[in-house]
Amino acid sequence: MPTVVRSLPNSEADALLDLTRDLTDNELASRAGELEARAEFPREIFRTLGKAGLMGLPYDEQYGGGAQPYEVYLQVLEELSRGWLAVGLGVSVHTLSCFPLAAFGTDEQKARWLPDMLGGELLGAYCLSEADSGSDAAALKTRAVRDGEDYVVDGAKAWVSHGGHADFYNLMVRTGGPGAKGISCLLAESGTPGLEPQPPERKMGMRSSPTATIRLDGARVPAERLLSEEGQGFRIAMAALDGGRLGISACAVGVAQAALDTAVTYATERKQFGQRIADFQGLSFLLADMATQVEAARALYLSAARLRDSGKPFGAKAAMSKLFCTDTAMRVATDAVQVLGGYGYVEDFPAERYLREAKVLQIVEGTNQVQRIVIGRSLTS
Ligand SMILES: Cc1cc2nc3c(=O)[nH]c(=O)nc-3n(C[C@H](O)[C@H](O)[C@H](O)COP(=O)(O)OP(=O)(O)OC[C@H]3O[C@@H](n4cnc5c(N)ncnc54)[C@H](O)[C@@H]3O)c2cc1C
Repeated sequence: MPTVVRSLPNSEADALLDLTRDLTDNELASRAGELEARAEFPREIFRTLGKAGLMGLPYDEQYGGGAQPYEVYLQVLEELSRGWLAVGLGVSVHTLSCFPLAAFGTDEQKARWLPDMLGGELLGAYCLSEADSGSDAAALKTRAVRDGEDYVVDGAKAWVSHGGHADFYNLMVRTGGPGAKGISCLLAESGTPGLEPQPPERKMGMRSSPTATIRLDGARVPAERLLSEEGQGFRIAMAALDGGRLGISACAVGVAQAALDTAVTYATERKQFGQRIADFQGLSFLLADMATQVEAARALYLSAARLRDSGKPFGAKAAMSKLFCTDTAMRVATDAVQVLGGYGYVEDFPAERYLREAKVLQIVEGTNQVQRIVIGRSLTS
């Protein structure tokens, strides 16, 4: 099977990708199926990734980050997701959760909390969605009221990845009036009295990545944990998502690559009518289309990443990338099931898992309808 040919900007990045490929092939791919079936969250793997320097790749070295460009960080995510989406997406969610502090914290806040976050000692969660406000995130209702040196928080954040396992939670809360301008961002610690993770959702796929509602019942978060100023929370949340959507894009390409690899291997081994099914033109054209889509998706996320790395506005391109890469993952995973025939539909092969995993990527961090809204606005406003 042909390996992915990567162009990397420096030899350090080459070594990082080699290390990641090794971890993926030896630690992730072999365990994913079993732990997914048991819906077990592999917390210790994130500690291993932290020790390997993979939990804070795109952030400043000053605070323990890897100082890598997004172009490199995203290819690491792609490799991890090829082996196990729950891990690749977990690194992406953690990296997203470090962004509000890294980009908007004071020097004192960063010095106190960022090194443990970037080193992977502490695992992060990002809490924007609520039961009644998903795509319309600015309608969130969880309220935080200043009381002395604390904010007292009441409400519930829904769909929190790592909910119940995270060590810190970026809470987008309402401190002011309605709409985006009334929202603030608090960096709450797990174990805060009144911050209560609920039992995990029972999901179609990616079951090893816990998703839970976090109830907030008079939770007192110290005011020193407010990031930036009151009213800046929505701006912070959206800026974080621009980078997060590139992360989802790379995760999607990892799943698509895994599905393609599975289909190619199977097609060269399976025989029908006395020959390899790969030698039927009808099937090899399907594989050719799958491979072409994966390459195009990879090229798009890398081009968006280079825009970000060069300091240029990249929000619309990140939305295009999220839309195209996740739709590609869904198409390629569906076609991989088709290539395997009946064997694609049973759990003995990973093709059905890739299909279940690809689906969620079209929903998280802004559905693909929301991405089209972002792209459309960038064209016409
Ligand atoms: C596994 C998983 C993990 C998640 N992790 C997190 C997390 O860590 N943190 C977090 O904050 N959130 C998280 N989410 C929530 C996710 O971001 C939301 O599910 C998503 O934004 C959609 O919101 P919703 O589910 O409320 O759907 P809705 O917003 O109710 O949308 C329902 C449908 O209507 C469509 N729609 C809505 N508005 C429009 C419009 N204006 N135009 C066209 N179509 C529209 C949507 O595209 C969708 O198809 C997670 C979700 C899942 C499933």
